[in-house]
Amino acid sequence: MSESQSQMALFEAPVPWQGASKPTFLERMASPDKDRPEKGADAAALQAPLTSLKGLGPRGAELLTKLLAKPLTPPRVIDLLWHLPTGTLDRRLTPSVSEALPGGIVTLVVTPVKHSAPPRSAPRAPVRIVCEDESGALDIVYFHGDRAGIKRLLPLGEPRLVSGRVERHGTRLQMTHPDYVLAPNERHRLPAIEPVYPLTLGLTQKFLYRVIGDALARVPEFPEWLDASLVEAQGWPGFRDALVTLHRPQSHADLALWHKARERLAYDEVSSAQLAIALVRRSHRQLAGRSLVGEGSLAAKMRASLPFALTRSQETALAEIKADMASSRRMLRLLQGDVGAGKTVVAALAMANAVEAGAQVALMAPTDVLARQHLETLTPLCEAAGIPLGYLSGREQGRTRGRLLGKLASGEIRAICGTHALFQPDVVFRDFGLAIVDEQHRFGVAQRLALQEKARAGDADILVMTATPIPRTLQLSLHGDLDVSQLTEKPAGRKPVITRTVPQERLEDVIEGLHRALGEGAQVYWVCPAVESETARDMTAVTERAAHLRQVFGERVGLVHGKLPGAEKDAAIAAFIARETTILVATTVIEVGVNVPNATVMIIENAEMFGLAQLHQLRGRVGRGAAQSSCILLYKGPLSETAKSRLDILRQVDDGFVIAEEDLRLRGGGEVLGAKQSGDPGFRIAGWPEAAPLIERAATAVRYLLGRDPYLKSDQGLAARTCLALFERDEAMRLLQAG
Ligand code: ADP
Ligand code: MG
Repeated sequence: MSESQSQMALFEAPVPWQGASKPTFLERMASPDKDRPEKGADAAALQAPLTSLKGLGPRGAELLTKLLAKPLTPPRVIDLLWHLPTGTLDRRLTPSVSEALPGGIVTLVVTPVKHSAPPRSAPRAPVRIVCEDESGALDIVYFHGDRAGIKRLLPLGEPRLVSGRVERHGTRLQMTHPDYVLAPNERHRLPAIEPVYPLTLGLTQKFLYRVIGDALARVPEFPEWLDASLVEAQGWPGFRDALVTLHRPQSHADLALWHKARERLAYDEVSSAQLAIALVRRSHRQLAGRSLVGEGSLAAKMRASLPFALTRSQETALAEIKADMASSRRMLRLLQGDVGAGKTVVAALAMANAVEAGAQVALMAPTDVLARQHLETLTPLCEAAGIPLGYLSGREQGRTRGRLLGKLASGEIRAICGTHALFQPDVVFRDFGLAIVDEQHRFGVAQRLALQEKARAGDADILVMTATPIPRTLQLSLHGDLDVSQLTEKPAGRKPVITRTVPQERLEDVIEGLHRALGEGAQVYWVCPAVESETARDMTAVTERAAHLRQVFGERVGLVHGKLPGAEKDAAIAAFIARETTILVATTVIEVGVNVPNATVMIIENAEMFGLAQLHQLRGRVGRGAAQSSCILLYKGPLSETAKSRLDILRQVDDGFVIAEEDLRLRGGGEVLGAKQSGDPGFRIAGWPEAAPLIERAATAVRYLLGRDPYLKSDQGLAARTCLALFERDEAMRLLQAG
């Protein structure tokens, strides 16, 4: 425990051992019938905001909010219970002072014999209390202590039970800021095994232990939502017991990843996700959509303007999409295809189909850069077809925005491209029929539904495009049994990108090579990582590299990164597209969607710092035209084994699906799921890859449950609703309430 943390333990957080007469949580646990919440109680007490916990001031609430890192919604009581300990402290060791081993946690019975005040010349020096037992002496030390308080806590001549870490200073044994100071008859207050939680600066273990205890005391004995047979076969504890086991471990083994308690909660978590997905999916299936059938004239004009024919898989995907749109069921289809597979054209033709049928269309992308790129691609296609196209991001404001919204509402604009600005409540369509969402894993389900609700009857068809190939298990956990169209072949004439790994020391050679490539008319991306610090993304690497390359290549070097104002970002990309710049130094803002077919060289600096899927995405920015492209992965050695195999895979493999599977294997699922960006709660208990088999099993169980009890009205169904609420599957709850 750091010094500042222990100080807070004594002086800021309420101190439970000072005259507290209320029974502790452990005591309540020991006498289960007293105070035990009633059976069948609902989840409300756990869904209440954190601030409803007693004794939690604004400062404590602020720290916990930071600790729980929930970006979008205020943390609830239950969120605190998802914060699991990662270790244990054993306070059972009670040696005599002379037997206590420095460096360890011990519990000692000692008697204070002397309070030594800091000298007048150094009033801020630590307060030292000399204590002893028959075997030897121990100094208890407080920094910046409230001396009166300390005197009350450790009165001279009265034995005290103290627990904490002991250290040797010279010849003396010392305990700095004991974790516990109790009277000998208060021994029962001392947790024998104490959970150790991950902390954030300013929080203490003791404080967390106490507030989590309060939160635990609120967990009622919920009716079981899992199949009794499954629970029995797995030997799983009930929900409440599982939480108690993890937060009040009796041994370190209770915290093991494969422990029944954790497995049970992980299963609850993945099955609530599966249930939510199944309910959302069913509502799409059941709720009537509208039949959108185009007569083909606009799409024909669009096709005529293309300098190429569609590939077979593009044609198949388009046919599947049109069939969905024509049916009276609502479409929810995923269009999946590796980078450069040509999803945008398919989306544009689906757009034309909807417009022919009289509906309006929105194409939404996760970033402004990407949305503008789509705008670039769509503009000539829509012009050829005579479809009025608009654009809306957070940047369109005031009169421009007002005029645009007017045209959307009147139906003058038939298709609009933009960012999540399209979700804003004052964006109103005359007749919204088709939502196309690019790079869906960055959006949450809730956002997708918000867009869908823009339709008058809330019944828009949805086409989701993703360039990130998603391994099957992850797909199940993200989308459930979503309909999927896949672009399996790349447009003809593409040559695979030649990929090489080069150590950073050979930077000069790389620059030498660039002279040659630029001389032959190539355009070059040069990507540097944005270094994430706790509070900011550091753009030093990318700006310094741009300055360096400008010294070598002059003004034809552009720079784009996420910290630039929007207009400058656009200008930098526009200049590159217009070939005014030939080298574009960038961060991963260009990761998705940016399409400059003339760019044939991709240089990625510090490639070892990127994820595999991300490198593949970046590499996908080149190799988009007929010319041979190359990708250079500059790395700083020495490389770890994982980093080495990662770069090797990239060198050898060009198939996004293979790379995604490998990425998942090497890195774990959390980042691939992209839960962070999407604001989706993601998995907090279920880790990866342990969750994979649980997901499969939960998907099956959910199908059975919904088969028996489609509206979750049986006892088990009602209990399952509680589980949904606890895991914040709000979109599914809304559907149940509506239905
Ligand atoms: P994705 O979005 O799947 O990464 P894009 O839709 O951006 O891919 O397409 C990549 C490039 O391939 C674009 O320049 C596009 O015009 C071109 N393209 C798309 N379909 C074909 C095709 N069938 N034949 C040749 N080029 C195509
Ligand atoms: Mg694209």
